[in-house]
Amino acid sequence: MNEKITLPNSNKFFGIRFESIGGLGAHAAGKILATTAVLRMGLNGAHFSSYGSEKKGSVVRSFIRLAPAEKLIRSSAPIESPDVIVVFHSALLKNPATIAGMKAGGVLIYNGSESDEIPEIFSQLPSTTKIIRVDAQRIAVEERSRPNAVLLGTLTATVPFIDFSILLESFSEEFSQRHPEAVASNEKAFRRGAKEIDRLSNIGKGTDDLPIMRADPVWGYENAPIGGVLPLPGNTVHNDLTVSRMGWLPLLHKEKCIHCGMCDMVCPDFCLVWKKADNNEVHLQGVDYRYCKGCLRCVETCPTGALTREIEAPGMAEKHRVKLFPELEGGA
Ligand code: SF4
Ligand code: SF4
Repeated sequence: MNEKITLPNSNKFFGIRFESIGGLGAHAAGKILATTAVLRMGLNGAHFSSYGSEKKGSVVRSFIRLAPAEKLIRSSAPIESPDVIVVFHSALLKNPATIAGMKAGGVLIYNGSESDEIPEIFSQLPSTTKIIRVDAQRIAVEERSRPNAVLLGTLTATVPFIDFSILLESFSEEFSQRHPEAVASNEKAFRRGAKEIDRLSNIGKGTDDLPIMRADPVWGYENAPIGGVLPLPGNTVHNDLTVSRMGWLPLLHKEKCIHCGMCDMVCPDFCLVWKKADNNEVHLQGVDYRYCKGCLRCVETCPTGALTREIEAPGMAEKHRVKLFPELEGGA
């Protein structure tokens, strides 16, 4: 037990909420953090995650409650008013629920790049919120690691009682058993996550804790439609799969495309846009990134190299997007 580690207010739980999508490692990070707190930092802790279908790209929320060793943790409810929120993917910041319940004086860590616009919803945060930006996706790609390693490093740099060395040791041990080849790259990503951070100031305009947000169930036993029935046929065209991409997207180089259609045959989401040319041939126009989850099957299949795998820079998808259903969005 490390006697030096103390929580800011020993009468209350210290709550950390990870806001993420499947595949970025939020659940694993939460588990490692809570286990380390209990077994190596002399604290009491509890952790669980909530997620929908177990697939890459669906929303994942991970909750870590910490307390002094002598304080019992009886609750396993979601943490609605956290002291720390860690946002694993900046696209989640389009949804106000991501920062709901942020406590005044708390810490918000988010995965974002310097060239990104500051997300609009940050103005709702209490003015006392410490906002920390780290380009976790870029660091993870450069170090061949994952954003969870980077963001855990950032957590140690911003939450004083979470010890850098103890958490790093624990994180490395976890991987040394299952993926020993990943230990060195994860350590580098973790260390960079603790160093390469931007502290943003004068962003939040609020004066108090943000209100909590609970989604009301749309359907209950009285109004749920009969099982197997789609009450809104065609509703999937309104989906936005942007948050499913994990840092990569396919980019079309039209001059190399022979319009063979191989990419279209392997794309699971039909997001390639085609148009009839004057000679009645059908030509590939581009990708509608709204529906593209970044699986890159199209890139692997293209026989001419007309589709390439690119790191998704801010604004890139918007710039190169070709709309599949322009009529749904008020024109081309
Ligand atoms: S597979 Fe490549 S060459 Fe063929 S249509 Fe798609 S982008 Fe063009
Ligand atoms: S990466 Fe390519 S194959 Fe995968 S969803 Fe996007 S366009 Fe389709």
